[in-house]
Amino acid sequence: MAVRDVSLDPVQQLRRELDELDDLVGMDPAEGARVARSLAGRAWDLGARGALACARVWEAEALQRDGDGAAAAAAVAAVRREHPDLTSELRVRASWVLARSFTDIGDRPTALEHALDAAAAFDDDVPQRVRTRVLIKVADLLDELGAHEDSRSWYRRAEELALGDAQLHLLVVNNRAYCELERGDVAAARRELALLKELSRRYDRPLNANTLDTVARIHLLCGDATTAQEVARAAVRTSSAMEIKNADDLPVYLLTLAVAQRVLGDAAAASQTLQEARAACTGVGFADVRTQILEEQAEVFAALGDLRAAFETHKAFHAADKELLSEQREAQARARQAMFETDVAREEAARYREEARRDPLTGLGNRLFVDERLPELITGFQVGGRLVSAVLLDLDHFKTVNDTFSHEVGDQVLCVFAGILADAVVRFPDSFAARLGGEEFVLVLASDDEGFAARAAEWVRRTVAGYDWSAVTPRRGITVSAGVATLDPAGDKASLLSAADARLYAAKAAGRNCVVTR
Ligand code: GH3
Ligand code: MG
Ligand code: MG
Repeated sequence: MAVRDVSLDPVQQLRRELDELDDLVGMDPAEGARVARSLAGRAWDLGARGALACARVWEAEALQRDGDGAAAAAAVAAVRREHPDLTSELRVRASWVLARSFTDIGDRPTALEHALDAAAAFDDDVPQRVRTRVLIKVADLLDELGAHEDSRSWYRRAEELALGDAQLHLLVVNNRAYCELERGDVAAARRELALLKELSRRYDRPLNANTLDTVARIHLLCGDATTAQEVARAAVRTSSAMEIKNADDLPVYLLTLAVAQRVLGDAAAASQTLQEARAACTGVGFADVRTQILEEQAEVFAALGDLRAAFETHKAFHAADKELLSEQREAQARARQAMFETDVAREEAARYREEARRDPLTGLGNRLFVDERLPELITGFQVGGRLVSAVLLDLDHFKTVNDTFSHEVGDQVLCVFAGILADAVVRFPDSFAARLGGEEFVLVLASDDEGFAARAAEWVRRTVAGYDWSAVTPRRGITVSAGVATLDPAGDKASLLSAADARLYAAKAAGRNCVVTR
């Protein structure tokens, strides 16, 4: 466990422990999940949101590695719901956890979608190691889904990124070798095997247990069970020393060993090894391996000449296989539900966000919208060296419209006026109309053209004065006054709006139904 460094503040200390957690999750996922939860608790107490999000993504990864894909997917869904502002690295890792979780629960098309999401979120802040692993995952899934050509090109991308990193480079080749193996392509598998040995020499790094298992399987495919047995033994031995560990590692290696032993004619040893494999399936998430062990056990009984036991075990294998399928289906349903709820929550959040920035009467943006959008525009245009102008508009003697007709009629006037403002900006990108409150509105116009805002304001004034209001306010015309200001280079939102406001006041003072531009 981490040593506390007294020179670090609590958040820095937490950050350091989170870095260490990354390794722990790979080595001992169950412990990793526990530590992640405790660090998340501390992050919460400290109000360190970034650290909290990080701890929770690590926890999801630990759950996945510990074999509970549905729980991992639900955990990612929750993190995304509560932290819409994840950093690019955490976004990538979250999608990657989903890709692995959906693979575990047998839904490869969905897994591929998430793996591609992860790849789409790459940027320079995402560590190369993470990126390489994501590329490998995409390649693995493409191969499993039958897209061998595409898969090879993703492996190539992964290999380019992995060059110089022994562990990753070997991982890329290992997985590609496994694909050839699964397809039964002896020649291609042999080529990858030669490459694995060559890389191991070049990097001066022994093959890890996972790769040894692949190598043993390739030897089996090539009909060399003796070497396969030897290598499988080595895989079992090194398994405990592996850097990255999945929950089902050891039973998988034992299973390979048992196959080699059976093929070599030592059914008794194979039987013994299978028993060890079964015993190594502790905890959740072993249904898949357990099923494969049963299948192999049936073969071993047949080799031992115990046909009755072989038959019974075969039946048990089929039952387990059916059970596995239904477990996977159930896990898929849970994971999908969690993801769906997140999508709904995200859409709702986006809708609330949007609604909070809209004026319900006229449908234009409201003051909050202006408060957010105008500074963005100003910054963007200051950088681009272009002009931002504001036109403040206020209906003339509007109080008497309400008093003469009714508040409802007043509302109708506001809506017609809002429509005219929307028409004024509809063709101009980055420009918008908004209602600041009451009968006061603003046009924000972005253009290279100095006189543009004044012309737009005058167009609005004229259109309002010339509008046929007879259906809304019989025998009473409507007019509007406007003040126009253009942002000076050192200005900001407040200075722009107050300059426009002063000119609006001048327009009122000058008798209304006019535009003041200076
Ligand atoms: P001026 O030409 O100086 O702007 O005169 P005015 O009457 O337009 O200005 P004043 O600020 O005195 O009155 C604004 C009126 O706008 C008062 C209020 O009743 C009305 N008003 C504010 N919001 C709404 C609304 O949402 N609907 C309706 N119908 N009227 C509103
Ligand atoms: Mg008014
Ligand atoms: Mg007013």
